[in-house]
Amino acid sequence: MLKDYHSHTFRCKHASGDVIDYATVAAERGLQVLGVSDHTPSPDGRWNTLRMSIAELDSYDAAIESARKAYPELTILKGMECEYIEDFLDFYQEELLEKRKFDYLIAGSHFFLCRGKWTGTHSYIKGREELEAYANNVIASMASGLFAFIAHPDLFGNSYDLWDEHTLYYSRLILEAAVEYKIPLEVNAYGFRKRPKETAQGTRPPYPLTPFWELAAEYDGLSVIANSDAHQPEEIGCTAEALALINKYKLKLADLSYLERKAPLSCQK
Ligand SMILES: [Zn+2]
Ligand SMILES: [Zn+2]
Repeated sequence: MLKDYHSHTFRCKHASGDVIDYATVAAERGLQVLGVSDHTPSPDGRWNTLRMSIAELDSYDAAIESARKAYPELTILKGMECEYIEDFLDFYQEELLEKRKFDYLIAGSHFFLCRGKWTGTHSYIKGREELEAYANNVIASMASGLFAFIAHPDLFGNSYDLWDEHTLYYSRLILEAAVEYKIPLEVNAYGFRKRPKETAQGTRPPYPLTPFWELAAEYDGLSVIANSDAHQPEEIGCTAEALALINKYKLKLADLSYLERKAPLSCQK
């Protein structure tokens, strides 16, 4: 009973395929749920070389609608992966959730405010100060109550090489907040498909970070989810390594079935 709540489309300009292509693979592989969660457009056009534009929202809606018709046996959820930016929250709430009836939103902190500057998580977390600002951004996204889960909370491992007192401290803050706000954390399998990182502590995937998830096991009440973060259709449902990590540390799997659309009522006899 495989479910995958994190996938993209060509619209974000760094993924390939449209919803129907992901749905085809998902149906072939017997997935029960395909969550489409492309990167949100920015209402002010920020970072739009890596994101869809606002003008593409109609075609995103239509692509999901037609894939639902083509694969009625598959539950296709309409979602979006969002940056946590206070100025964008009304857009997420009013345009996406209310007007366009999105089924869910994911928070993914690819950018965060540090020393007054928007800073990229993938490349620029080099010291304690950036780690702190990143953790603050992630925790604020949890507190907003807008998001169904937090994508790759350990994404800082992509640019911060070592596991040290600082990663331990800020990882604990993130884990404590996830318990407090009762929000699942994602073990993101995309990191396993990326080129491993050489560090003074050995070679490892850029993320997920094993020590982060080992630490997560200490937190009762924490729940987790394994997703592919597919950027190509053939990656949909590829979560085996993330699930293995979850099993290794006996983490509790989140139940997101409440997101699934109610099936149409059948005639009652
Ligand atoms: Zn992406
Ligand atoms: Zn993603």
